Amino acid sequence: MTRIIPLAVNDIIRMKKAHPCGSSDFRVLRIGSDIRIVCQKCGRDITVPREKLEKNIKSVQSAATAAGENHREPKGEPNG
Ligand SMILES: [Zn+2]
Repeated sequence: MTRIIPLAVNDIIRMKKAHPCGSSDFRVLRIGSDIRIVCQKCGRDITVPREKLEKNIKSVQSAATAAGENHREPKGEPNG
């Protein structure tokens, strides 16, 4: 059974295999039958067939989560 990994533009992908520059984090630029990603370290972009890319993904951080770094939720009071 094939597991489909949900991907969206601006998601940060961590690959199993690192880029020659040493970084294994890539940002999604375009989604299609081929997926275009850009290396977070050297800025080089690569187009990879989706099937091949999914096999190489270690983890995905969604863009929504990454963008939320600026917004910090105030610590709530403990529920008694
Ligand atoms: Zn690179």
